[in-house]
This record gives sequence, structure tokens and C-alpha cells, in this order.
Amino acid sequence: MDSVINLEDFPHGLPEEMEEYLGIEQDSEENKKKPITPKVLVEDCFAISVGSFGRYLLKPIMGQAKQGTAYIWRRFDEKKIEFQVKFGDKPSIEIRYKARGHHLTQDIKLSLGFTPFGVRPYLVCWLCGHRGKLYLKPNAHYWACRGCNGLTYDLQTYKKTTVIGFLRYKLYRFFKLNLMKLAVKRIDYAGKYTRKARAVMAFAKNVR
Ligand SMILES: [Zn+2]
Repeated sequence: MDSVINLEDFPHGLPEEMEEYLGIEQDSEENKKKPITPKVLVEDCFAISVGSFGRYLLKPIMGQAKQGTAYIWRRFDEKKIEFQVKFGDKPSIEIRYKARGHHLTQDIKLSLGFTPFGVRPYLVCWLCGHRGKLYLKPNAHYWACRGCNGLTYDLQTYKKTTVIGFLRYKLYRFFKLNLMKLAVKRIDYAGKYTRKARAVMAFAKNVR
């Protein structure tokens, strides 16, 4: 009774009863139905902050609100953004850019933060009011914050659905099976079979 169970005997994975015995949780019906939507990474998006449009954004030049062109980089490609600061009831920055083949305009509100060094403007997300960086997803038309875009950083992608998660799951299964083999062996050496050990052996015999 050297080897009770060989992994090679189960090329299509373990039978359900055995998984149950081993305490391997089955994927629930609920989970199986959920579509797996791949997360979009921050690194896949263009990102802008107030700093993207140069310094002293709120300072008029010769009485005119600041305007110009900014170039935003994402990996190996760049996006040209023309901008125009607007003073009204509330300051905003209007940006013009190309996305998905369209020439688009987005008016982004500016929120003022007061620091010891003066007033600092921030870009405001039009969907939630969050102030800070805004991102343009690969298939999106408009810019929004990280939260509203559901963006994740590369390192956070470490779930079951990833390759690493899948390998960990496989390893766990393999490990469990070997632990069980060991346990059964020990029982065998002691010369006595517990009910569980007998069940495992009977099961393995049936499968073969
Ligand atoms: Zn937002």
C-alpha cells in the first residue's frame, strides 16, 4: 500500500466526492454564472492632473485666461490635448482631444485647495466629485477618476481568475492529495485502518 492515489489517474481532475472528502470547495453556482470581466489597469489609461497643463493655471496672462496644448504620454503613444481655462461662477478647464476617432470636448471643474504657498487647483471628477487625477480608459470617450473607472494597479491583479491564482489553486489540490496519501500511509504502517482510510482506499480502487 505504497501509493494509494496517483494524480495521473485523474487526468480530468478529481471526482466531486473526493474533492468533498479533501475539503476542496466547489465553485458555487452563483460564482460560475458571474461573467469574468478583466480589470482595466491604470497603466492602460491616459492620465491627467492639473500639473499636465503647466504651472500657474489660474493666473491670467495679459488679462487672458490660460490656454495652450498639452501632450500626455501613455507607454509609447501620446495624446494631444488643447485646453482653455474658463473663469465664471466656478473655474473650469475645457479640454479638446481625440478619442475613438471623435473630436471631443470635456469641461472639467477646478476645485481650489488652499495651501501655505497659495491657492492650488485640482481637477474634479464629473461623476463623483473626487479631486485629483483623471483617466481616459482605452475605449472611453470621457475622463473620470480611478474609482469611477474601476481601475486597478498591476500588482493588485492577484485573484483566482489570474494565471497565478489558477496555479496556486492547482498546487493546493496537489498538496492536499499528497497530504492525504501520507496520512493513509501512516495509518497503514500502524497496522490499523481508520474508517476514513478505508473509504479512501475503496474509493481509489473503484476509480481504477
Ligand atoms: Zn469619480
